[in-house]
Order: sequence, then structure tokens, then C-alpha cells
Amino acid sequence: MDRNELLEELVGILGAEKVISEYEELLVYDCDALTINKALPDVVVLPESTKDVQAVVRIASRFKLPFVARGAGTGLSGGALPVQGGILISLVRMNRILEVDAANRRAVVQPGVINQQLNDALRPLGFHFAPDPSSQQSCTIGGNVAENAGGPHTLKYGVTTNHVLGLEVVLPDGQVTFLGGRVEEMPGYDLVGLMVGSEGTLGIVTQVVVRLTRLPEAVRTMLAVYDSVGAATQTVSDIIAKGIIPAAVEMMDRITLGAVEDYIHAGYPKDAEAVLLIELDGPEEEVERRGATVIDICRQGGARQVRVAETEEERTLLWQGRKRAFGAFGRVSPSYYSLDGVIPRSRLPDVLSRVYEIGQRHGLTIANVFHAGDGNLHPIILFDERDRDQIERALRASREILQCCVESGGTISGEHGIGLEKMDMMRLVYSQEDLEAMKKIKQVFDPEGLCNPGKIFPGDTEVKMPLSRIVDGLRP
Ligand SMILES: Cc1cc2nc3c(=O)[nH]c(=O)nc-3n(C[C@H](O)[C@H](O)[C@H](O)COP(=O)(O)OP(=O)(O)OC[C@H]3O[C@@H](n4cnc5c(N)ncnc54)[C@H](O)[C@@H]3O)c2cc1C
Repeated sequence: MDRNELLEELVGILGAEKVISEYEELLVYDCDALTINKALPDVVVLPESTKDVQAVVRIASRFKLPFVARGAGTGLSGGALPVQGGILISLVRMNRILEVDAANRRAVVQPGVINQQLNDALRPLGFHFAPDPSSQQSCTIGGNVAENAGGPHTLKYGVTTNHVLGLEVVLPDGQVTFLGGRVEEMPGYDLVGLMVGSEGTLGIVTQVVVRLTRLPEAVRTMLAVYDSVGAATQTVSDIIAKGIIPAAVEMMDRITLGAVEDYIHAGYPKDAEAVLLIELDGPEEEVERRGATVIDICRQGGARQVRVAETEEERTLLWQGRKRAFGAFGRVSPSYYSLDGVIPRSRLPDVLSRVYEIGQRHGLTIANVFHAGDGNLHPIILFDERDRDQIERALRASREILQCCVESGGTISGEHGIGLEKMDMMRLVYSQEDLEAMKKIKQVFDPEGLCNPGKIFPGDTEVKMPLSRIVDGLRP
């Protein structure tokens, strides 16, 4: 089939208002938040129902065209890139909260619902959807499911997979199936567990049954200020070793503090080497008692100041600084590359020194802002993507840092996924046999290899854009 035929079929089934085919408009979809890699789809569709998604997948399956799901495009591993062209299925119009069942602590949502939108709707009822990626103002629940997203409060509450009960999925052959259920435990294989975190490679999620968590009775948020990164990171282990699991322990270094403070004016000390943003939640009395212990631990660990947020406004501002940190880097550097490695938290002090050393060796500034309590590092490499040499140095530094995470007993992704970005690095953590076992799962769901191809597995980088010749023809 040629592209015109494809467009005709799609418009015939969906209507012209749900099909994007002009070159200038397709450019909007040529990357996600990992801007180093770019790829154009042949066409973008904007389904509004499961039936729409099913119809599109059936066309893709019939014509053997690749198809890729996309939420808000905030992914940081190139997961939503149509590297082999084909149909990009944007789920943003499937953005309705279908049901909130407070008595049974669950809600049913469409995949394009924004994480923050769901939490805003749940707050008056005394509940929240616990996974809170820093991108929660824009990322979708479908994207959270596909990436098994985490966030600052992952330390206490767990990641997305711990908060999903059931999923409606359009499988790569167009069949609609429901995995899991609406209650806590379901018999049979845990296919929800398999689908969550599969990065859109096993099917398109069209409905999500999420578990609701009660909002805590009390919350205490504090900022501990340090004159050394090592002292701050050591404190993280000291707190956990005392048997205290805070809701969140985030760390920001000096470079981050400077960028964020100039942007958000959160009241962060620009002269500090590092701060810990620590939050405790739970029953009032427990939060009070543990809060006092944590302040003691911070002081004993060398904090020169521990500031407790006195009002909700102060707390919100402290969190705004952290959650909008990536945006702040956009103001101080033409491009940034956010890495995502995991290490045992006791290794934080020495691995962070290695990160700074790697940055220096490659002549790059590397900032650090991350989920310290989970040992989930996010070194942020500042560079200029218009300069090929800087891109190459950034990529070399990123590889060395992730290798260092693995050598320290950790791994290559805590929450951003493998996507396109880290396919080759899968070999650092898995044997060929392990990878073959995973590939067999992919083949069961997607024997034709059409569903988000060219992701996760090393060596699958072949770029063949079936209709791109015609898209090229559209280029001005
Ligand atoms: C500033 C910033 C901060 C961030 N902070 C965090 C953080 O704290 N924690 C964290 O975990 N991540 C974080 N991220 C990464 C990103 O926001 C998350 O991975 C998020 O879950 C992606 O959601 P999205 O809707 O943007 O998905 P997209 O980027 O559009 O897609 C991501 C992947 O999901 C697949 N997908 C999307 N929708 C569906 C669907 N309905 N069915 C099947 N597959 C689908 C896509 O094919 C792709 O592989 C951050 C990103 C940015 C830019």
C-alpha cells in the first residue's frame, strides 16, 4: 500500500479530525524528552475510544505497518519514537476519568489522563494515586503504566506497578483484552505485572484500573543543608539504618540549587554543596516523633541547617523547586541529558564522586538531582546538542556513569525505561539467555514485531521507514 491509501483508510474510519499527516504537524512528534534522537512517523492518529485504537491497530496489522503508542511525550528514553516510521497512536484525547470508587479504593481512567489531573480529582475525597513522577503536571497514566514510573514518593509507596489493579489492552493483532481485575488479587498469571513497564512493546493500554491510597493524616517536609555532598548522601543511609522510611528523600547538588533558585525562588541556599528534601508522613504523633529523630540525624551528619516547612505554601514551594528542576536546566544550558541509574544507597557517596570525576574528564558539567532514598541517580549532563562533539562526549560520559552504577551493584534504569536510549546497555545487566527469554514473551504478544519495534532489545536498531520516502516528498 502507499501512504495515500493508508491515509484514506484512516480518515475513512476515524474522520479527518483524528488524523495528522502534514509534514510540519508531524514534526511535533519527532522526539520525546530525550531530544538527542529524532524520528518522524508516517502519520499520527488521535483516537478517542478503544474502538478507534482497535481499528487503527487492525489496519497496522493488516498492512504490516509498525505502530507506536504515545502519551504526553515526556519519556526520557526515546520510548515513544517511531524509529521504523509507521503509525503513531497519540492517546491524549482518551483523557477521561471514568469512575472513582472511594469505598473500594479504586478508579478507572483512560490512558491519556494526566497524572496531576487524577490527583486533583482525588484530593477532595481524601485519596491520591501514589506514583508522582516529577513530570506529573504533564505525563499521562498510560505513559506511567508503560514506563512503570516512579517519583519522589516511591521510597515509601512503591512504583506504578504497585498501584495498578487491571488494564484494558488492545493487543498487536487488534484483539481487546482485560488483564488483572478490579480487586486486589486475581488468579492466573500476573499479566498486569508483565504489561506494566513493558514500554508499549506488548500492546496499547486503553483503560487503567488504579488503586487509590488514603492521603496521610500529617505531613512534615524539611530541607537539610550541607557543605558537602558526601555528608548529605551519608545521611540518607543513616536515616534508613535507624529504621525510618520517610515518604521521600531527594537530593540536589550545588549546580542544581543555583539553576533552580534563579528560576523558582524556592528559598534554596545557593552557597550550599547539597540539600536533602525530606518528607515524613503518617499519623500526626508518629510524624512528630520521627521528624525530631530525622532532624537529629541530619545535624549529627553535618547539616548546617534543617528548615522545616511551617505552612502548606512553604511546603509546596520546596517541592516546586525539586519538581521543576529539569526545567531550570533548560534556562542555563541549550540541552541537557538526564540519566537514570540505580545503586545501593550505601554507595551514594563514592558513586557521586565518580560521576563528578567523569564529567570533569569529558569537559562536561554534570548536575545531580535525584531520588536519594531509592539510590535512584539522575545525573544531568549539560551540553549543546548543536555541537556533534559535545553530543558524543555526553553519550560517552553517560555510558561510563551507567557502567559505574552496574559495577557498584546497581542497574541501568530506575524509572525512565530502556527505550531506544539504553538498548545496547541491556548487555551490561543481562546474559544472551536472559534476553532471549524476554524476546520470547515479546514474540507471543507481537509475532509480527509491529508494536513499538526497535526498543529495549540490543541489536534491534534497524531503521526502516516503510512510507518515509513519501513523507520525505512532503518536506518543504
Ligand atoms: C521533567 C521530567 C521529569 C521526570 N520525572 C520523572 C520521575 O520523577 N519519575 C519517572 O518515573 N519518570 C519521570 N520522567 C519521565 C516521564 O515523565 C515518565 O516516563 C512518564 O511516565 C512518561 O509518560 P508520558 O505520558 O509522557 O509517556 P510518553 O513519553 O508519551 O511514552 C512513554 C512510553 O510509554 C508508551 N506508552 C504511552 N502511552 C501508552 C499506552 N497507552 N499504552 C502503551 N504504551 C504507552 C510509549 O510507547 C513509550 O514507550 C520525567 C520526565 C521529565 C521530562
